[in-house]
Formats: sequence, structure tokens, C-alpha cells
Amino acid sequence: MERAIFLDRDGTINVDVDYLHEPDQLRFIDGTVEALALLKAHGYKLIVISNQSGIGRGYFGAQDVEQLHRYMNRILQEHNAAIDAFYYCPHVEQDRCMCRKPHTGLIDRAAAEWEIDRSRSYMVGDKEADVLTAINAGCSYGLLLSGHMVSRGLQEKYKDDLYKNLWDFAQHICAQEVK
Ligand SMILES: [Mg+2]
Ligand SMILES: [Zn+2]
Repeated sequence: MERAIFLDRDGTINVDVDYLHEPDQLRFIDGTVEALALLKAHGYKLIVISNQSGIGRGYFGAQDVEQLHRYMNRILQEHNAAIDAFYYCPHVEQDRCMCRKPHTGLIDRAAAEWEIDRSRSYMVGDKEADVLTAINAGCSYGLLLSGHMVSRGLQEKYKDDLYKNLWDFAQHICAQEVK
């Protein structure tokens, strides 16, 4: 069985601009590329788990999202930091689907397709919905301060699993393994 880091996308990997879909709007958060390369070197599969309700709202199409992901991976590949797979929910909340985080539909699919051991895997993101997805799916988690504003209450609630950004998270996770 493989281990994975399930990654939120916006505010975790890239700077969160509302409804990102144009490649020229893509900006990696500082340290992200290095963080992905480090996690990959430690044997984790890198799997993006992302809510993309802009599709359901008609702001852009699935093909735009997929084109952006290919563009993202062309850059990451040059740094041995490529994402192994992207999974996204195209729905809006009112659709009541089972793939929109904090539901676990996307992780369920990814875990089956990649033979992932959830108990040795993490979900990392910048919103409480990412943490709840991890808990619902039986993964460990990290909450990042690199995107969406995390309230003081949430910072207190998740203080043992709070990280400045993905680089901070990756260093922590990988250091734990060196025994
Ligand atoms: Mg996010
Ligand atoms: Zn969905």
C-alpha cells in the first residue's frame, strides 16, 4: 500500500485568486515546489483533492481546469515535484454531491485507484473543510496559514496540526520519519 499526501490546491499549492482558471494567473506559494519535491522524495504520492465549484457556477469549464493542471505539472516536473493525480469536484453545494469536501468521495476514489493506506496518509489544506475531509476519510491532517484566513478559534482548535505553509508542513512530516 502507498502513502499519500492529499493536497488542497488553492491557498495550499498556489496563491488563492478567486476561481483561478487561467495559466497566467498561477502563482506558487513560496516554498511549495520544494515542499512537493521533498514529500515525493520521501515516497509519498502527491494527490490534489480540490473543490472547483467555478465549473458548477459556469465560470469556467472542466477543460480549463485540466489545462491549468497540465500547465502546473509541466513546471513541477522540472523540479521532480509533479502531482501524481488531480481529483476535483465540479459541483456547487446545492448539488448535494458526495465529492465536495468535506465529503470524502474524491479521497475514496483516489485511495482505491492508487491503493493508498489512509492511516499513513495526510490531507493538507487551508480551510477547516480540508481538516474535516481528512477526519472523515481516516487520514492525518495539516491546516495551513498560507491561504484562507484561519480564525483564532480554529488556530486554537487545531494548534497541534497548524503550519505556516506547505514547506513548513513537509519539513515537519519528513523530519518525523528520520529516526
Ligand atoms: Mg484552499
Ligand atoms: Zn462533487
